[in-house]
Amino acid sequence: MTKQQFSTAAIHAGEIHDAQGAHVTPIYQTSTFTFTDMAAVEAYASGEANSYIYSRGGNPGRTALAEKLAALEGFNLIQQGEAVTAEIFSSGMAAISAALLGVAQAGDHVIAQSVLYGSTDHLVAELLPQYGIGTSRVPGLAAEALIRELEAQPNTTAVYLETPANPTMSLVDIAATAEIAHAHNARLIVDNTFATPALQRPLELGADVVVHSTTKYIGGHGTIIGGAVVSHDLTLMEEKIVPMIRYLGGVPSPFDCWLTNLGLKTLPLRMERHCANAMQVARFLAEHEGVTAVHYPGLESFPQHDLAKRQMDDFGAMIAFEVADYEAATRLLNRVQLCTLAVSLGNLDTLIEHPASMTHSSVDPEIRRQIGISDGLIRLSVGLEAAEDIVADLAQALTM
Ligand SMILES: *Cc1c(COP(=O)(O)O)cnc(C)c1O
Repeated sequence: MTKQQFSTAAIHAGEIHDAQGAHVTPIYQTSTFTFTDMAAVEAYASGEANSYIYSRGGNPGRTALAEKLAALEGFNLIQQGEAVTAEIFSSGMAAISAALLGVAQAGDHVIAQSVLYGSTDHLVAELLPQYGIGTSRVPGLAAEALIRELEAQPNTTAVYLETPANPTMSLVDIAATAEIAHAHNARLIVDNTFATPALQRPLELGADVVVHSTTKYIGGHGTIIGGAVVSHDLTLMEEKIVPMIRYLGGVPSPFDCWLTNLGLKTLPLRMERHCANAMQVARFLAEHEGVTAVHYPGLESFPQHDLAKRQMDDFGAMIAFEVADYEAATRLLNRVQLCTLAVSLGNLDTLIEHPASMTHSSVDPEIRRQIGISDGLIRLSVGLEAAEDIVADLAQALTM
């Protein structure tokens, strides 16, 4: 693939050019759709007409967004003749729960890595077991330990991972994990929120299902909450994922789909600048005496730098770094001016947060320590401002 072709798909795939000649995909702000007569109803019911009946089941703007996202996540697969589809949800968590409930039923088992997005952690640890789905964790999904766990839990139907993981930035080898999962008749689900399809396409590396919080880089502007499930397993999508949105009802609004679609068009362009800025900020932090560690896949010192180069096209714009302790973290976070103290990520502007007391405060302190979330850990979502301005703000905030 070339970057140009990918950018072209981001702008043109899925777009609707309607009968009125609207240049930009319109917002179909309607809950129901009309039929001219019973012949139209019959054409809809038989699937002959590609029409809509009610916006929980489908809405044209949602279809446009789903087609664009599928075109990007499956960019090379589609060029090789494979079909890829997506379903858009009202939040990342709606998408993630739909994917997990779509591949695992009562009596089945799910294996996940130990570092997960906070709410996904809760879903896996607390909610799935309430519905009879067993769950267990394997740190980093390390190959030998994963194989042992799959053998110990032969009813495993899904292996679930995030890479880079939130908030420690640790990576998991997608291709190797897919191979192990498939050898044990389990599907691999990958949360691709941090990397986005502009930097990493898990389906091409062997994953069965990709999930997203589109709230982050895909929407890109911090205006919506949304999610998506993408897969080349069309039967799974049709029989398991589509029913999740239809019957559990985590439906996004037409306006949110429209904003997300607009954001997705500039994803390739934004990610280029996000990554370039992050590299400059990471290099600055790595040299600063007040910073004890920097976790960024693009640094040669990052333990999994080679894996990052192998499975990602660039290194993303999420950086975790450590200062001495809670007091040093507090000082830094009270002093930043350009960087905004807030959770979430992937916005145009730089966001900074303290995982131990914000995004990961619900994780048990002992587990936090085990998985590397120290009290001095800071998570930075590097934005699109001038890199020198971000560096200057961190420099003034880090002075003793
Ligand atoms: C934000 C996020 C989620 C949850 O998405 P929502 O849109 O907030 O429901 C899941 N995974 C990752 C990696 C996230 O950053």
